Amino acid sequence: MVPDSSTAKIPCADEMNVSALIPRLSQGDFPLIRFKRFLSHNKQPLWQGGGTVFSLDIMIEKISEHARIEPDRVRQLISEKQDELSGLVSEEGAAYIVAREMGLNMIREGRKQLKVKNIVPGLRSVDLVARVARVFEERQFEKDGKKGCVINVLLGDETGMLRLSLWNDETSIIKEGKVKEGDTVKVSGGWAKSDNRDNPELKIGRGTIEKVDQVVELPDRAQLEQDFQTLKRADIMDFKEGGQYETRAALVQVFRRNPFFGICPECDSRIKESNGKWICDEHGEVKPKQALVLSGIIDDGTGNIRVVFFRELAERIFGKKTDELKELADNATDSMSIFDSVQGLGREFTLRGRVKRNSFTESLEFMANDMDDVDARSEAQELLKQLA
Ligand SMILES: [Zn+2]
Repeated sequence: MVPDSSTAKIPCADEMNVSALIPRLSQGDFPLIRFKRFLSHNKQPLWQGGGTVFSLDIMIEKISEHARIEPDRVRQLISEKQDELSGLVSEEGAAYIVAREMGLNMIREGRKQLKVKNIVPGLRSVDLVARVARVFEERQFEKDGKKGCVINVLLGDETGMLRLSLWNDETSIIKEGKVKEGDTVKVSGGWAKSDNRDNPELKIGRGTIEKVDQVVELPDRAQLEQDFQTLKRADIMDFKEGGQYETRAALVQVFRRNPFFGICPECDSRIKESNGKWICDEHGEVKPKQALVLSGIIDDGTGNIRVVFFRELAERIFGKKTDELKELADNATDSMSIFDSVQGLGREFTLRGRVKRNSFTESLEFMANDMDDVDARSEAQELLKQLA
């Protein structure tokens, strides 16, 4: 949802701001006191910190489930609670109180203002204030006869850069010129997913995006562009979690694991299998397109690290296109025989990418975003320049 200036903050469909519950309570002393005492069990007062409660329907559903009573009975309890509080509390407020009396907390996790580096795939209710470093060209597609479009935006702060993808109506904020490169934007209630290279990607979903006056210190656009483009050449022994580096290293090992994974044919995002169906978060059930992932070990003489290549980079390491490899694997007695002729094994590359911690193995790995074959001549010229 993209608000215009008159509706800058639209609450998500299934939630409302807690502060909306409060004004009616302040009309009378008695219920206010009771409400306050009741709230003192909470570590956080309701009207601070931007916590949200669920909508009335969801609260009724949750209470009904929790107490194993019919939704109608829950509605009755809510109405009785309103009567008890002389009608000074809203239905939502009364539902909240009924729930709490049954030991149910209806406050959602309070939102935190995050920095780019804290945004990981799977995170919901993301609030972020960041600089628009770059706006990419609009991409159009057609799905079920309906036209759609996506505009990717690069957001940055002092901790890093992150891609925000705007879909369909969400792109109007760019098309109408409300947000331009260099502007500061606030994303409220967004969510993060993995892009096809396993980098976090921010989406608006049921949240909002708006241009804001700069309220926090942010690097300017030129600085962000510079940080983004010039990766520091680093030794593997100096790699740190979250860092982005360029390294010159040899691919010394390749792991023989199934290199194919399904992606959405519409948006190239990763998809999940559920009951034999392939589901894209954005496009629902889809017929998966095959993409390639290859992992191994790189070594630069100072140390070694697990490396992951996706898609085109993996194709270059294999020396074959995805479709060709898939066909070879499907027709071979041992599908792993496609690893017998990996062309990049033992070769040296200049690799650019990001160091992250693998959530399963807990060890660091290098997610390659870009690579070049080492060009002996340009490397030598670089060395000569340093000596001069
Ligand atoms: Zn999709």
